[in-house]
Amino acid sequence: MAQWLNVDFLRNAHLFFNRDLMLPTSVFPDISGIGWENVQASGIKGIIFDADQTLVPYHGVMLHPGLVETFDKVKRVYGADKIAILSNYAGNQMDDRRTKRKQALEANLGVRVISAAKKKPAPEPYHAAMAYLGTTPETTLMVGDRLATDILGARRAGIQRTFLVLNPIDAHNDPWYTSLTRNFERKWYDKEIQIRWLGYLSGKWMQWGSHTGGI
Ligand SMILES: [Mg+2]
Repeated sequence: MAQWLNVDFLRNAHLFFNRDLMLPTSVFPDISGIGWENVQASGIKGIIFDADQTLVPYHGVMLHPGLVETFDKVKRVYGADKIAILSNYAGNQMDDRRTKRKQALEANLGVRVISAAKKKPAPEPYHAAMAYLGTTPETTLMVGDRLATDILGARRAGIQRTFLVLNPIDAHNDPWYTSLTRNFERKWYDKEIQIRWLGYLSGKWMQWGSHTGGI
């Protein structure tokens, strides 16, 4: 089957219409903008990271140089065994290439890459990651760069805390199908946030109106 065809993604395309499932808790330019001590203080016990464009360049096996310091800090704060990587291009569908990439990522980044038969946004890989981390959906944080895979899959697995990184490491190397869906996601997200802000502001306006006897 064509490598780019993510069957679970297509099978669950209807979830696009469940808007809450694709909205992250917070957004950051990249993982260095996240306050990791605050994350820990908020009760998060384990972290699942996406790999491509979140930690490493597209299909890369080395941490982006600008993120080395931050990733070391996360490992210091949490311990390497409380961090897991979930990638649709490593560890799953145990073919040679994906197995080799899993091994290279584990050797270079010093954390476990989870093996799972299904791809994100299926919930199964997240369940496997939480089993490894020894965490529950309430105490797990998902960090990734894609709404329709990383965030949607986490929410389907019951994970409530999800962070989206807005700056892909090397977006110009994204394959066409990823560029296409990433652009679509970003437009959807901007619109969704606008709608929610308008809803919030109009609610405030109505409240204000009722206090002052207006409208
Ligand atoms: Mg990614």
